[in-house]
Amino acid sequence: MLNDTRSHGLWEKTAPPAPATPALDENVSADVVIVGGGYTGLSAALHLAEAGVNVRLLEATEIGFGGAGRNVGLINAGMWVMPDDFPKHLGQHYGERALDLLGNGPYLVRELIEKHGIACELEKNGTLHLAVGPEGVKELEERARQWQKRGAPVTLLDAAETERRVGTRAYAGSLLDMRAGTLQPLAYARGLAHAAVKAGAKLHTGSAVTETTQAGGKKIVRTAAGEVKADWIIVATDAYSHGPLAQVRREQVHLPYFNLATTPLSDNLRRSILAGREGCWDTKEILSSFRMDQAGRLVFGSVGALRGTGLPVHKNWARRSLKRLFPQLGDVEFEAEWYGKIGMTDDALPRFHKFGQNVIGFSGYNGRGISPGTTFGRVLAQHILGQIAEVDLPLPLTEVKEPGFRPIKEAYYEAGAQIAHFAGERF
Ligand SMILES: Cc1cc2nc3c(=O)[nH]c(=O)nc-3n(C[C@H](O)[C@H](O)[C@H](O)COP(=O)(O)OP(=O)(O)OC[C@H]3O[C@@H](n4cnc5c(N)ncnc54)[C@H](O)[C@@H]3O)c2cc1C
Repeated sequence: MLNDTRSHGLWEKTAPPAPATPALDENVSADVVIVGGGYTGLSAALHLAEAGVNVRLLEATEIGFGGAGRNVGLINAGMWVMPDDFPKHLGQHYGERALDLLGNGPYLVRELIEKHGIACELEKNGTLHLAVGPEGVKELEERARQWQKRGAPVTLLDAAETERRVGTRAYAGSLLDMRAGTLQPLAYARGLAHAAVKAGAKLHTGSAVTETTQAGGKKIVRTAAGEVKADWIIVATDAYSHGPLAQVRREQVHLPYFNLATTPLSDNLRRSILAGREGCWDTKEILSSFRMDQAGRLVFGSVGALRGTGLPVHKNWARRSLKRLFPQLGDVEFEAEWYGKIGMTDDALPRFHKFGQNVIGFSGYNGRGISPGTTFGRVLAQHILGQIAEVDLPLPLTEVKEPGFRPIKEAYYEAGAQIAHFAGERF
């Protein structure tokens, strides 16, 4: 997007087109105006429109321009935070509610895809969280124990079964989560946009919000060429926030993450690598992830930005890592490369904010936003529709808090990933 092949890479090449969404060029009224055309905004728009609400969505660039169009496509259940730690961080009431919604989030994603016939390469074969060494196994054993006591369909697999599924001996075991899966992330975002339009929502792209104000009890959201007057504003701009909503982004530390996609693998290779098409990521601190797309391209990613010296360093590391993990691949060619910024919060949990009366939003999904964005977008709709009281939202209301040394931490993550990958960090 924006003539940058490293912004959305493979997903932009293979996603079906988005619906026609003209820029806002007039002054209009609505019940709800949503800022941001990613999963949170689109899910809110869809659910509000289905309930007969007059809704406008304003997206600065294109549908899926933010994290929604650039991610790995792992439909995760839960967050990085261990299940038992949710109530510790959020209190019993919010902790259990958030855990329940986020644990079941992938089911909502599947339901919407099926209900609206969204062509987005959905795979329902689960994800494998891969254990690196005995420490990794210990972490996954604990995670399995905590999810299993809540009845979640997760299974700890030993090294041999992991090798059989993944096609490498590199891992000491894995946690199979059958709630989870993979999809084509930009195709999913565009599919949600089609569904929202069909339900009656009005979507505008190329419509950056430059000002928010109020008059006569109404909220007013302005773009360069128009304005929307509404009763509610949903702020769904997350890590890519700019303009008057930039405070959402300033609350987060950005972690760069890149992906490289091989050319489609031969049938033989596809039988030996991830034949079951599970989505994978590992337990390392500088983690790696990989998955297949529908055409059999292996999408391999890790922490880092594909710019400056990062471009050759991360690509060379990825080539070496793939060779070590899957010697059967030989020398790989990459067909696409891209990267984006993941918005991390200091406790790795999302946030619910109010930026004024009837100005609300969720953000900060810490690299796990497909299910949470979809789920919390629906929660925002349900709240506006009066179906969920504020006290029953999945997160407590918090103030936006800027973390200390944010720019230094961001520079450290980008440089640190480069140094680690240059120094030969394993796969
Ligand atoms: C490289 C990468 C890998 C990831 N991998 C995964 C993964 O495998 N699984 C997973 O679940 N999650 C993953 N994530 C996280 C996930 O993509 C995000 O959490 C998710 O996209 C957040 O959705 P959202 O709708 O809240 O925000 P976004 O998708 O970021 O959308 C926000 C939108 O707001 C728009 N916007 C901002 N400011 C304005 C303004 N002033 N006016 C109008 N519009 C504005 C932006 O242009 C953007 O399109 C990953 C993220 C990245 C970057």
